[in-house]
Amino acid sequence: MRDTVLVVEDEPNLLTALKYTLEREGYNALTAADGESGLRLARERDPAIVILDVMLPALDGFEVCRILRRESAVPILMLTARGDEVDRVVGLELGADDYVTKPFSMRELLARIRNMLRRSSAPAVGGSEYQAEVIRSGNLMIDLVGYSVTLDGKPLEMKPREFSLIALLAGNKGRAFTRDQMLERLWGHDYIGDSRTVDVHVRWLREKIELDPSNPKRIVTIRGVGYRFDG
Ligand code: CA
Repeated sequence: MRDTVLVVEDEPNLLTALKYTLEREGYNALTAADGESGLRLARERDPAIVILDVMLPALDGFEVCRILRRESAVPILMLTARGDEVDRVVGLELGADDYVTKPFSMRELLARIRNMLRRSSAPAVGGSEYQAEVIRSGNLMIDLVGYSVTLDGKPLEMKPREFSLIALLAGNKGRAFTRDQMLERLWGHDYIGDSRTVDVHVRWLREKIELDPSNPKRIVTIRGVGYRFDG
């Protein structure tokens, strides 16, 4: 049976893109564009997971999350747009299970959804402790849950797109991505831009994670193709 995913998001383009992506992945997608109808759909349709934007008309995402959590154990993934929203999601103990910061890649979001569904259907072992998702490569550590990257244990400053980029590449070690694939995953289908945007972000990343950025060993250039993470 297909899992039902309820998406509550007031940006029409993002809502459409999320619905399209979820249905393509085999989920049954329900959508709501404001907090009140989101809450109503959650009650009526009992979804397997709720994806909830923070800034919503009628009832904001924080309120919806708080109310829903009192009524059900449905996994809730918050979509946040700013760092101070992340602080609130984490700090207020709203009962959300996870969050992603906009802009996010669809791939990343789908990975979170799969994880949350797997956790919620697995028998509880040792309480509800969160299984951290961490990519390690030598002295580099990427925490997909905490949104942090450390090198030799020291945190690196990352812009959201840089984070998404390193997560995409390092999460697919050994696989080459074309610039177009990277643009589509990180900037979205409707991004009108040029692939040099990708090169710029790769250069920034190399300056942070490579021993010698002019002779990169981690993010390597595949001539005529794009980039690959080698470790
Ligand atoms: Ca919004």
